[in-house]
Amino acid sequence: MSHSPIYAHVVLPLPVNGYTYAVPLHLQEKVQVGSLVQVPLGKTKHYLGIVSALQKEAPQGVQCKAVMQVVSAYPMVTAQQLQLWNWMASYYCCTLGDVFKAAIPTLLQHDTYKPKQVVYVKLVGDEAAAKNAQQRVLLQRYQQLSMPMVAAGAEGDVQEPVLKSELLEGCSLSAFQTLVKHGVLVCYEQESTRLVALEQQQTWPTLTSNQQEALQQMNNLFQQRDIVLLHGVTSSGKTEIYLQKIQETLQKGQQVLYLVPEIALTAQLEQRLSRVLGNKMVAYHSGITDNQRAEIYLNLLQNKQIQVVLGTRSAVFLPFQQLGLVIIDEEHEPSYKQYEPAPRYHAKNATLMMAQMVGAKCLLGSATPSVESYYWAQQDKYGYVSLTQRYGNALLPRIEVIDRQDAFRKNRMKDMFSWFLVEKMTEVLEAGQQIILFQNRRGFSSYVECPQCNYIPKCQHCDVSLTYHKKLDKLVCHYCGYSIPVPQKCPSCGAEGVKDRGFGTEKILEALQKHFPQVQAERLDIDVTHTRAQYEGVLNRFASGQTQILVGTQMVAKGLDFDNVGLVGILNADNMMNFPDFRAAERAFQLMLQVSGRAGRRGKQGWVVLQTAQPNHYLIPAVMEHNTEVFYQNELQERYDCEFPPFVRLIEVQVKHKELAVASNVARQMASALAVEANVSVLGPNNALISRVQNLYVKQFLVKIKGNNQAVRMRLMQLAAQYKKQHSTLQIVMDVDPM
Ligand code: ADP
Ligand code: ZN
Repeated sequence: MSHSPIYAHVVLPLPVNGYTYAVPLHLQEKVQVGSLVQVPLGKTKHYLGIVSALQKEAPQGVQCKAVMQVVSAYPMVTAQQLQLWNWMASYYCCTLGDVFKAAIPTLLQHDTYKPKQVVYVKLVGDEAAAKNAQQRVLLQRYQQLSMPMVAAGAEGDVQEPVLKSELLEGCSLSAFQTLVKHGVLVCYEQESTRLVALEQQQTWPTLTSNQQEALQQMNNLFQQRDIVLLHGVTSSGKTEIYLQKIQETLQKGQQVLYLVPEIALTAQLEQRLSRVLGNKMVAYHSGITDNQRAEIYLNLLQNKQIQVVLGTRSAVFLPFQQLGLVIIDEEHEPSYKQYEPAPRYHAKNATLMMAQMVGAKCLLGSATPSVESYYWAQQDKYGYVSLTQRYGNALLPRIEVIDRQDAFRKNRMKDMFSWFLVEKMTEVLEAGQQIILFQNRRGFSSYVECPQCNYIPKCQHCDVSLTYHKKLDKLVCHYCGYSIPVPQKCPSCGAEGVKDRGFGTEKILEALQKHFPQVQAERLDIDVTHTRAQYEGVLNRFASGQTQILVGTQMVAKGLDFDNVGLVGILNADNMMNFPDFRAAERAFQLMLQVSGRAGRRGKQGWVVLQTAQPNHYLIPAVMEHNTEVFYQNELQERYDCEFPPFVRLIEVQVKHKELAVASNVARQMASALAVEANVSVLGPNNALISRVQNLYVKQFLVKIKGNNQAVRMRLMQLAAQYKKQHSTLQIVMDVDPM
């Protein structure tokens, strides 16, 4: 054993990269890269952290404190995970501490995880010791429960373990305690699980010949490439193909990570997978407990039975030991990006990076691929497979475009519904079919406005219009939650009666009650689905036909599979197309195609009525004709001309301070320091879209870089650290690849 000291770099759960500590001699045999260790910080504090590197040389010019103890008996983080952490910190301009906090289940971070223990009972004494009827009943029950289950061929005296809780069902606790006291029965503990698995009963799917062909193409592409994009229209059976790929991967003895953008989408899939895979599959998302999270982490770390993880974005951090395949479903979804807190990572990109590090294949799937992925497929960086047939040859819906302004002028609108839409709705309802109405906004109406002076009430802290919520009868800020009662008189000119503009799901429901009083309608948006049970309630009532009309925000666009939807109404395409964001057209296109895809499954052609004030926008014919090619070509040309991704990469920097002058100056100085770097252009600084949040002024600028340009990221982090030193309350938020 070496007698010179060694040094450990330790990542702490703090917004820093970590510090170097000396490892005392008596701990040198125990400490490894990945170990959880306890270390001191400052005069009085101590933390648990992860050893990210070991070295022989003492760091120069600093006096190292010593590691206090090695907490974990084995490394909690693998070398491959650490490689991902390092990449993430440098790519997303954050610290290793930020990554650590996101990556490790909290109970493991604090070393407070206890595996579930269950108590068993064993008969060790003489049965004849039973002193009364109750004790005899109890021992009889014990005999029944311990009876070997496998009768024929089994060794006669192998007893089934008896659970204390089962034994005590209907038996006397005091009789039990007496028997334990007299040494007739003894209790012992054994480790159990908190993960729930469904019984295996379903089998793997049989693919149609189209699907089989797509799978074959995909497998051929995987011979040459690590990433394949599966572009399959809604309801083409992408999920069935994923299942087939999972089966193939498991047969090779490898693991699968199946990423979905949101927990809301997992319920159906979770059941389906669990019925095929039993306890080899687990779900990993915000709906599971901290204990389950920790148990899954350790199970994978120790390479026990879990082979498939169905997870949301943080599943990228799990310690897979033999990952063979990653499936990223709905790869275009913006919810793969984490906004708050750091690391502000995009789970798709992070997962592609992780897969590359461990040599796993990646399958990206979508009915409406992101413009970026489509481009990389076009450039032959990703393999590309398309599936244009719906399962069972269901037809794509017929789309009718209604010019809202024209209808308005001709007096052919009933509230927010065109006459044409009302007519179609009536037809569809009479045929016993259901309707989905889509409106990309929540709340009763988007904002209120004074009819006299056009004053719009805004948030005191955030500088955005307040949204009117009828249920609360209040104006609410969607960013910070600030709310005020609806003013009776205009605060600016004193005129009576502020008037609502625009409309949300709640107002649509109200109009439906007016025009279709006999029809059951319900809304689906975040205001009515605070819990998973509420969300599933709304969906179940629609699936069972209890409700005929579902009115919803983008929540209705995603991954839902209903049989009987004859009509989808898109009430106002314009608020999607006009949103101030370079991805607005892409989002609008994706949402419109996805929501249209809900119409007409299982052999019946559905209808879509699309109401817009801009029927000539290039998006509209592309949606009408399901012509994705037209859309992507147009959009890529615009991105190229205006220098947006995929042709450049973006970093959005926000500088926040309570004094406007400080925020402005720092933003200006940082922006000009960066603008001189090679291959970089800087837009701004400007006021942020929301220029004041919680009493901080927000200035922002956008950095456009060509290629990966790690040097710019480093410069940015350097500058941020430097200015934060000068102004202690300054906040600088760097969002790499913002969505
Ligand atoms: P996508 O993911 O492309 O939208 P799904 O995989 O959800 O499509 O398939 C749509 C519907 O068609 C589902 O109800 C699915 O069960 C059914 N389906 C698709 N392919 C098959 C198949 N090969 N065998 C049986 N049912 C299928
Ligand atoms: Zn606000």
